[in-house]
Amino acid sequence: MHGMCVFSTGERAGYPMFYRNTEKKLAREQRKLSRCQRGSRNYEKQKKRVALCHEKIRNQRKDFQHKLSAGLAENYDAVCVEDLNLKGMAGGLHFGKGVHDNGYGLFLSMLEYKLEERGKYLIKVDRYFASSKICSVCGKKKAELSLSERIYYCECGNRMDRDVNAAVNIMNEGKRIFTECA
Ligand SMILES: [Zn+2]
Repeated sequence: MHGMCVFSTGERAGYPMFYRNTEKKLAREQRKLSRCQRGSRNYEKQKKRVALCHEKIRNQRKDFQHKLSAGLAENYDAVCVEDLNLKGMAGGLHFGKGVHDNGYGLFLSMLEYKLEERGKYLIKVDRYFASSKICSVCGKKKAELSLSERIYYCECGNRMDRDVNAAVNIMNEGKRIFTECA
């Protein structure tokens, strides 16, 4: 799913459905553009429509990210996230693979300044921390975990959504880092 976040509490947040509609509209307008003759008046008009769609999508994303980061900064004293990478796991946020235009990076900087304004902390966990492979209940680490395994199973009896398990691990690792630094 596109622009998806998973929290250690098990909650999820994603771009509302109407954002998808704007994306579909963009695809339609782009197809139309490809059928216009380059340099013609129709082509120039259509190019403007495509640009407007892009702008609308950018604004909708920004709006969503502002609201989400403001809510987190309001409700938590510290937020632990996985440091920037494409997969974008965070503690607990998880952005889906479809994240475009560095959405996760922009989101993190928004979240960081909103937390700082309130004297709170954004704690970044190293991207090489094996957040997905560790059992968040007993701490045992799996040698392998394929991407198709959506549920994390452990011998200890833990059975958990894969992303929520990772988010809890990131939160715990963030806490550990924070206490070490404090
Ligand atoms: Zn376990």
